[in-house]
Amino acid sequence: MPVRPIVLSDNPLLRRKSRRVRRVTPALQQLIDDMVETMRAANGIGLAAIQIGVPERVIIVEVPEENEDENQEHPRPRTLHAVINPELARKSREIEDGIEGCLSIPGWIGEVPRHRAVTVKGLDPQGRAVRIKAEGLLARALQHEIDHCDGILFIDHIKDPEKIWRVVEGEEEAAEAARLV
Ligand code: ZN
Repeated sequence: MPVRPIVLSDNPLLRRKSRRVRRVTPALQQLIDDMVETMRAANGIGLAAIQIGVPERVIIVEVPEENEDENQEHPRPRTLHAVINPELARKSREIEDGIEGCLSIPGWIGEVPRHRAVTVKGLDPQGRAVRIKAEGLLARALQHEIDHCDGILFIDHIKDPEKIWRVVEGEEEAAEAARLV
């Protein structure tokens, strides 16, 4: 399961609309395995196939679970979601601003408005229909990855240039920047 190079935002590939997956094959499982390896190696919480140069509608998201037990001593469990041909089936009217970064735009974070809650439908890696009801950070990461499938980057959602910041290593924002997708 090799870690693959991440496509950066100066590459026009990232602006391409990815194509729908027609058939779930072993090659697709290999792609997903590589995406998981690549995302984890980069400390990301999500990745779209286009970010490793494959223009197919495949996303993965792995965010820490938000539970009531605020025990900081142990890392929170993470659930890996892999979705093929993901679509937003439902989205809340409520919009929430939140800090985002992108593995394809290293060194920058910004405040991005997103639907607070969404339901995403698509196929799982076995080709079965899945629906994911998500809110908060999981909903945000899913929207970010679905955008990648359509050639959209988080900076496209930021109208005010003052809401994009450069991250200097060791600064406070670096913690937030760990939420790279
Ligand atoms: Zn991204």
